Amino acid sequence: MPEKIFISDLHLSDTRPDTTALFGQFLEQRPQAGDQLYILGDLFDAWIGDDDDAPLAEQVRTWLKALNQRGVQVFIQRGNRDFLMGKRLMRETGAMLLPDPYLTTVAGQPTLLMHGDLLCTDDLAYQKARRKLRNPLFQWLALRRSLASRREMAAEYRRRSGEVTAQTAAEIMDANEQTILDHLQRHQATQLIHGHTHRPAVHKHPLADGRIATRYVLDEWHGDHAAAWVDDDKTLRREEISPSGTSPPSAPVPPR
Ligand code: MN
Repeated sequence: MPEKIFISDLHLSDTRPDTTALFGQFLEQRPQAGDQLYILGDLFDAWIGDDDDAPLAEQVRTWLKALNQRGVQVFIQRGNRDFLMGKRLMRETGAMLLPDPYLTTVAGQPTLLMHGDLLCTDDLAYQKARRKLRNPLFQWLALRRSLASRREMAAEYRRRSGEVTAQTAAEIMDANEQTILDHLQRHQATQLIHGHTHRPAVHKHPLADGRIATRYVLDEWHGDHAAAWVDDDKTLRREEISPSGTSPPSAPVPPR
């Protein structure tokens, strides 16, 4: 039975080769022909444009293309770190770029897929910066700069983002309850899968019509550990990923 596999927040970077190695091993061992792999944002810690010729970008392009060639469909949402991923990357790898949010069916239920940064509406400064970074004119101008200049911009962006994260209260950077309900309501969804916050959990949200929606927050990847959520068409379950392979969890993650 083909499966849908959901991951996000790998934050691949030259500074974390172990995570890149774990991702390579996961791609080789886990998705089977017919499966669909959903990468819900922040595959890369930075993406300076589809013309990036750095070894890491080339490596991941090669892996995604190989996946596509053995019959695994890859779907990608942009994250706040790799928002410059575009059509050329998709053409070269055979992956498909998904809008954010994106409505689909998971385990038989209407399910919204998001990176998750759009849910963090308490962080007004971030939402303002996001509007600027997603502006097509800003992006067009940024992509006209040389690769070297864009690498510098990305390093500066990462440095500043780290500073801001250290200074912003944790609650402000989490998903806003009302924004979650608004999205579920607008799309008539009863499930939401997203990453971004790096706070893996399963949350329950009572909806206005009496139904209970479930929100799955994906794990951030590390070199020695990661996790995926997997839909076999009936149930959505968590799978641990480690350098020794993938395995089901020892105990189910309790809703909270
Ligand atoms: Mn993110």
